[in-house]
Amino acid sequence: MNIILLGPPGAGKGTQARRLVDQRDMVQLSTGDMLRAARKSGSEMGRKVAAIMDAGELVTDEIVIGLIEEQLTTAQPGGGFIFDGFPRTLAQADALAALLQRLGQNLDTVIEMAVDDDALVARVSGRFTCGDCGEVYHDQSKPPKDPAVCDECGSANFVRRADDNAESLRVRLLEYYKKTSPLIGYYYAKGLLQTVNGLDSMDGVSASIRAALDKVEQTGSIAS
Ligand code: AMP
Repeated sequence: MNIILLGPPGAGKGTQARRLVDQRDMVQLSTGDMLRAARKSGSEMGRKVAAIMDAGELVTDEIVIGLIEEQLTTAQPGGGFIFDGFPRTLAQADALAALLQRLGQNLDTVIEMAVDDDALVARVSGRFTCGDCGEVYHDQSKPPKDPAVCDECGSANFVRRADDNAESLRVRLLEYYKKTSPLIGYYYAKGLLQTVNGLDSMDGVSASIRAALDKVEQTGSIAS
């Protein structure tokens, strides 16, 4: 089963994708993670995208489509791919459809994680991750049990994203509303859209996503 998690920055896409990886053996394809890895490696592409990412703007369609194509043609699909943070423009959505078709694969459903804007600001400004295992934490809603140590892997290497600040978030939200939110209508029209309440607890959102995926698995479609 191949799915897209769609939603604004801070909606919880990464957290829920990680849960699906653990629970369903799915493979998370996060273009944000791929771009951060490219920056870390110091590659030419990584250097090119650094300033754009820090400002909160979108990198070119060409770059992210190239990254996704590389992963789709090389990664083992396991229980299916989770597209996290991709597509973010209509051109990316069309490119994904063409790529999947070429590989003889389908897009099974698109899960929109709906969250209101005030909640996004609070979520993004408090979040950090374990630099070793990737577990996501939040200053208020999900602090580690021992503030200096990751609950999952015991590492003390916590990282905060350079673009998780108020100014960058404002730009990221604008980019989302201008360029990404039209995808909600696009996938609705394709009969693929399901919406979950992203403001629910993490477990509550996981349960809603599980129900959405079960529906596709049981009926082969999302028509109710
Ligand atoms: P994310 O981790 O998904 O929030 O992405 C972090 C940043 O990477 C974004 O603010 C963009 O600058 C860039 N980025 C990630 N995915 C895409 C995409 N599909 N299209 C364009 N830019 C992206």
